[in-house]
Amino acid sequence: MAETSTWRAERREGSHDSQNKTVPASKRQSALAPAIGASICIDHVGKTYGSFVAVDDINLDVAAGEFITLLGPSGSGKTTLLNLVAGFQKVNSGRILVDSKPVQNVPPHKRGFGMVFQSYALFPNMTVTQNVAFPMRMAGIDRETTNRRVAETLEVMRLSEHATKMPNQMSGGQQQRVAIARAIVMRPRVVLMDEPLSALDRRLRESIQIEIRELHRTIGSTILFVTHDQGEALTLSDRIAVLDAGKIVQIASPVEIYRHPATKFVASFVGESNLIDAELVQRRGTRLVLKNRAGHTFEAESRNPDMVGRATVLVRPERIAISDTLSPNALPVTVTSALFLGELLRIEAEMEGGEKLLIRCPDTQARRLPEIGEKLYARWDAEDCWVLS
Ligand code: ADP
Ligand code: MG
Repeated sequence: MAETSTWRAERREGSHDSQNKTVPASKRQSALAPAIGASICIDHVGKTYGSFVAVDDINLDVAAGEFITLLGPSGSGKTTLLNLVAGFQKVNSGRILVDSKPVQNVPPHKRGFGMVFQSYALFPNMTVTQNVAFPMRMAGIDRETTNRRVAETLEVMRLSEHATKMPNQMSGGQQQRVAIARAIVMRPRVVLMDEPLSALDRRLRESIQIEIRELHRTIGSTILFVTHDQGEALTLSDRIAVLDAGKIVQIASPVEIYRHPATKFVASFVGESNLIDAELVQRRGTRLVLKNRAGHTFEAESRNPDMVGRATVLVRPERIAISDTLSPNALPVTVTSALFLGELLRIEAEMEGGEKLLIRCPDTQARRLPEIGEKLYARWDAEDCWVLS
């Protein structure tokens, strides 16, 4: 297992121990001594395999203690970029700096990063305690400190009762929590996670997502997290970097990525979206008046002062309201499908120009499920309609 060597972080025990002794237990945020997250600067980094460009001139500044997610479809270069940061692969161009120091020539095990992979990669012949203690043993840390640290980490990951089990006596979710415990036991400055939850079922994934979020608050490490699951990225991250074909197409907070995607690709990759073809009629500052293919006008927001002519606008399905009566800004639609999903009605409709519209409205007023073929009016607020550049 090549990755085991990366857990051999440099010895920082002395400083942490003395810190622990001076901070009264009541003042400590949790049982865990916090790590001090490192900043990561990915500066014009490129990686090619033969003539194939896997990572294409990427720039990304990760602040100390930040939780950044690399989100993109399979093959977009997420793992390659993570491996470059870890040091498992060498960059072809550019630099990677950790706390402002170049690390190109630092081998993975000297970078002091924690790593978690999709496959748990636990040692099958070791107990949970032995697995979690492994990086500390490799670093030559004394037994007493190791025992204490392992016990604290198992407690935080809610694994204490499983301490003496072997990996094959545990569920997938429990094994992955052991792998996370092993990655953080050294309080690394940086934790790299490559699709750690994708082998788990949805409910388990959601509960471990919450744990990872809490863990990040507790330990203070910088986290670089890879996923192809947009919901996971939105839940966990301080910021999301969206990758497509080896390039970062947008870096922003989850709210910004969801509400104001930079491109059609981001709009359709993150969340469900209606992308409506429209033409500019009039501009009032950032507020535009547009008309759809059928000639119906509506308002939308745009930050692009140069926009002229045709545009694609995004309206999220949950931002669309339906009614039986005409109101300002409302467009006539014909229902093509209507499903009752419990808390939501999921309605597919067609605008007069033939474009499809997906609507998800909460089942709040015991609303009647519309009939197929029924004519309704769909409306949204200008703030909920975003013009893509
Ligand atoms: P992701 O993790 O986003 O799914 P990867 O970083 O694993 O994507 O891969 C990005 C692209 O680089 C893919 O097209 C993949 O086939 C290619 N690739 C990855 N590793 C190698 C390699 N060792 N040799 C050749 N091509 C590779
Ligand atoms: Mg990958």
